[in-house]
Amino acid sequence: MRKVLISACLLGKKVRYDGGALAVADQIVERWRSEGRIVSVCPEVEAGMSTPRPPAEIFKGSGEGVLNGEVDVIEKGGAKVTNDFLAGASIALNLCRKFDISVAILAEFSPSCGSSAIYDGSFSGKKVPGMGVTAALLREHGVQVFSQYEIAAANNALIEEIV
Ligand code: SF4
Repeated sequence: MRKVLISACLLGKKVRYDGGALAVADQIVERWRSEGRIVSVCPEVEAGMSTPRPPAEIFKGSGEGVLNGEVDVIEKGGAKVTNDFLAGASIALNLCRKFDISVAILAEFSPSCGSSAIYDGSFSGKKVPGMGVTAALLREHGVQVFSQYEIAAANNALIEEIV
């Protein structure tokens, strides 16, 4: 059975930086849950970061830049947490390899999980086009990454994998 990787916060787990969740109520996700298809991951918590934790943003760049060593992930307050984010991305990729996963749904706008847009590093709420570190690493390795706003498209991609 083909499995799907999903951000833990979207599944209702309270792992966000502020101690909250971003639970989605979606029939497709509920069906996947009952079918045992879901593999949950929070890259930041898996990397050992605490909950709650200071907000972090990629400073003037995107996940690809972090992977290439060009830019860093910075906590509000200035601490560099790039290595934690890289470690979390590697853990997510290893889960995809372990369970032969090629479709993921990750939480939009996160510096780890965002797949279309992220915050710009100014901690002002401004979003820019780009990917988080985990989304970039998974895509680099052929995983199709969708956001919580694209669950139907993710379902179609999964069906194409199955047939
Ligand atoms: S790292 Fe991803 S899974 Fe974890 S709280 Fe942030 S968006 Fe959710």
